[in-house]
Parts: sequence; structure tokens; C-alpha cells
Amino acid sequence: MTQIDMEEIINSSPIIVFLWKAEKDWPVEYVTDNILQFGYMPDDFTSGRIPYANIIHPDDLERVHAEFDKYLEEKVHKDFTLDYRILTKFGDVRWINERTLIQRDEDGTISHYEGIILDITEPKRSEQKIHLNESRLEALLQLNHMIHTSRKQIIDFTREKAVELTDSNIGYIGFVNEDETILTIDSWSKNAMKICAVDNRRFEYSLETTGIWGEIVRQRQPIIINDYLNCNLPTKVFPKDHVALNRFLSIPVFDKDKIVAFVAVGNKKQNYDYSDVRQLTLLMQGMWKTLKNRKVEKNLIQAKIEAEAASRAKSEFLATMSHELRTPLNSIFGFSQMLHDQISGELNENQMEYVSNVLVSSKHLMELINDILNLSKVEAGKMKLVPESFKVFEIIYETLGLMQPAANIKHINIETKIENDDLELYADKKMIKDIMYNLLSNAIKFTPENGEVCVKTSSINGKLQVSVSDNGIGISKDEQQEIFKPFTQVDSFLTRKFEGTGLGLAIMKRYVEMHGGNVLVESDLGKGSTFTFTIPMGYKVE
Ligand code: ADP
Repeated sequence: MTQIDMEEIINSSPIIVFLWKAEKDWPVEYVTDNILQFGYMPDDFTSGRIPYANIIHPDDLERVHAEFDKYLEEKVHKDFTLDYRILTKFGDVRWINERTLIQRDEDGTISHYEGIILDITEPKRSEQKIHLNESRLEALLQLNHMIHTSRKQIIDFTREKAVELTDSNIGYIGFVNEDETILTIDSWSKNAMKICAVDNRRFEYSLETTGIWGEIVRQRQPIIINDYLNCNLPTKVFPKDHVALNRFLSIPVFDKDKIVAFVAVGNKKQNYDYSDVRQLTLLMQGMWKTLKNRKVEKNLIQAKIEAEAASRAKSEFLATMSHELRTPLNSIFGFSQMLHDQISGELNENQMEYVSNVLVSSKHLMELINDILNLSKVEAGKMKLVPESFKVFEIIYETLGLMQPAANIKHINIETKIENDDLELYADKKMIKDIMYNLLSNAIKFTPENGEVCVKTSSINGKLQVSVSDNGIGISKDEQQEIFKPFTQVDSFLTRKFEGTGLGLAIMKRYVEMHGGNVLVESDLGKGSTFTFTIPMGYKVE
């Protein structure tokens, strides 16, 4: 192949071959004709009119120099490769990849560089686009996680990302009031703070009198300006000492049809385009969503704190009241008991009936007060578990003993199915007894005469399961959800046939939960109910 053939092949390829002298600014000794793709003639260089350094982008020149200088001292290094920007004769910027072979004299001094350059602008652009999209996604992800961060941090973060993603020099983020008359700019990029020596910096602006900052609200669409001085904006007013603007991009953020916020960036080195608009729109939507979520979350937390405080206050009030009521009630109960026992003299029939009524009522009141006191103690977190080991069997029979008289009156048969008499439980014995008492007394209370009640215990996977079933009046599906709430009784206050406080199940459910267990009810109206509670056999004290 002749040299001419070779040159022809090269010239019809995108690869440009160079021979540079190793002198200041790299004068060109030889370059292939296809340098024309950048608008230059080979002669522009070989005549010495344009040294190679002149077409290297000023921002990259220092880096290219540094790379070349690295090999000056070395005696052996032969080649290197480098990406940088060059300026074409048409005035635009291209990215190129240079691969260079170093030519040295006999004594090792570099005499020439022989190399090729290849236009890599397109792959570089795609690479930058991917990188930009990745950075934006990362920023959005970070914004998503900033729900517990301060509002200012969220806005400042978004603003710095807006400047970064659009390769801008300055930027700000502002907000618009409800009726779109007042703009608040509360986040300026660090650079803007530094270079805009705007004295008497205000943060709130009325739309009517605001210049360029208000344009975005007036125009209601992205504003791209790449030649600020010659653009046809109706207003270009700046405060005194504001940084000179050459390029400007502003984006509105909409919530439904209202503008709620805006971002503006300025002085990018290249022109702003629709890719910048896209980046900023997505970024700002992310910011607005985070700010909104944060507000909802904050309100929820506040409401929760207030509800908890109110509930604590209620529990404390009830606990104090119940305690205060108990003392006089004890005295009413004690003295009426003495009257009833006729200790200080005989009573006539009427007196006896009245005092019996006082006794029954004060007993009921005492039960109610004790239940309220217990429930409010649990709810205020003041009820402590005192666990001990005991046999399940013993507790069941103790409560059955207490309930037997009531069952006998109604001729109710109580059956027991105890799986294992030796089963040991480590739990708060008094609470378990209260639970059993509540379930059994309900079963007897809500079962008509000659009914059946059954108590069953078993152990499953280290858990104790106890169920109390009856063939009584049953509970409808809707009411099954409600009965564990305090003061809930299925028959309303006015039509009530059954005595009770409506607190028993609420208390027993909390007792079971304090042991790490749960309660279940299965019931059919008119057929009967089964209440089952399950608790771990060995409660762990935390
Ligand atoms: P109380 O029994 O003091 O009214 P509870 O909290 O123990 O309060 O029970 C709440 C309500 O649940 C009862 O008023 C009753 O309507 C219903 N209930 C509880 N146990 C049974 C049961 N075994 N059969 C039918 N209804 C029941």
C-alpha cells in the first residue's frame, strides 16, 4: 500500500492524524485533510498560523498541558490517551479523544508527538445525559427520604441540585402565596449570595412590582433565555448590584392549576435547553411532594401527641377521681352493712329493704370504681405485671368455686376440659384470675336458666389457650368488634336487663395483651359465645 492509499483511507475515516512538534503550544508539522470536519484547512496549522494549543478549549488547556508535562522527565514512556474539548472553526465545542505516541531523540528528549484524534461528542453527550439522569434520580431518592428533615434543608438541597443538574452558576427557589400575589424567595444558591451584593435584600416581593423574578408567575410556563441583554422580556429590572445575567431559566411548580413554587437558575456556560427544563421540572415536583408529605406527617404526629396527652390526662383524672370516691364509698358500704346486720338495733321491714338497696347499689358502685381505676392504671401505663409460677388448674378451680353459687341459682351446668392438671404458667396470677372471673361471670350472666358453660384449657406451641363457651344469648357480628371497648354493652343503657359496668372485657383484653397474648370471640346471636385467650406460657419480664 502506498502512502497516498493510506492517506486516502484515513481521510475518508473520522480519524484525524497529527504530527506535533514538542515545542510551546504544540506547532503542527503534519495533519490529515479530514481536519476539515472541524472547519480548519491543514494549511491553517502547518503554516504556523494556528498552533494546536489555540484550538483546545480554554477550560481544558491546563489539564492537557499537565498530562503532556508528565512525560517530559520520563525516559521510557511511549504513549498516552486523553479526552478534552476543542473549538471548531465554526465556534462550537467538540469533545475529542486523543491517542498519542511520544517520539524521543537518542538521548531520550521528546522531539515530536504523533497521534490521532477522534470526535467523541455524541457518545460523550449520551454519557452525560445518563449521568445527569442518574444524578437527578439520586436527588429525588434523597428528597424522598428527607421527610423528617427541616423545610429549609429540603429547599436548600433542591436548589443546590437544580444548579448542579443544569450546570448553572447561580440559582434560587421561591414560593407563591395562595392568591398568587406575593412571592417569597427564601433559598439562594451560595454563589448567588456571594456575587449578588444586593443591599437591603428583601425576601418577600409583591407580584405587581417584581421584575424578572415575577415573570414566571405572569407567564405560567418555563422561561428559557440564552441571551439576556437582547431578549424580549417585558421587564428586565434588577436590584442594584445584582450579578449580571447572560442566561436564565425558570420553571413554575403547579399544584392542580395553581403556581405554588418556582425555581430559577442562571449563567450556564452553554445554552439552556429542554433537557434542563425536564430535569428541573422533575426535581421540583419531587421537592413539592416531599414538602407536602412532610406537612401531612407533621400534622399527624402533632395530632397523635395531642391525642395521647388527652388520653393520659383522662386516665389520670379517672384514676384520681376513683381513688377519691373509694374512701367515702367504703364508709357508706361499711355502715350500711352494719345497719343491715342490725348491730346497733333492730330494723323494721321497710328500713331493712332500704338498707339492702343501699348495700346493692354501693356494691355495684364499688365494682364500677374499681374497674375504672384498673383500666385507667393500665392506660396510663402504671399497672405493672408481677409474674409468678402457678398451676393453671388451681386458678381455674378457684374461680369456678367463686362462680358456682351464681351458676346454681340459674341451674347452669359448668363443664371443664383441662388438658393437663400439671400445666404451669409464669404470669401475673391476680390478672389471670380477674380474666377468668370476667369470662365466667359473663358466660353465666348472658346464659338463660338450664344453660351450659364450658371451660377448656390446652397448650399449643408453648402457649396456653383458655376458652370459655356458653349457649347463651350470643353477640351479633357487628357488636363483636365493639365489646372490647370501654363502657360498651350490647343492650343499651335504657333497655338494660343485665347488670355490669361494660369495662370487664376492656380490662381483660389489656391484661392479656400485657402478657403478650391475644383474645378472640366467636359467637352466633341466640346460639352462644366462645371467648378464647392465648398467652405465652412463660411471660418474659422486660
Ligand atoms: P359487662 O359484662 O360488665 O357489661 P363486659 O366488658 O364484660 O362488661 O362485656 C361487655 C358486653 O359484651 C356485655 O355487656 C355484653 O353485652 C357482651 N358480652 C360479654 N360476654 C358475653 C357473653 N358471654 N354472651 C353474650 N354477650 C356477652
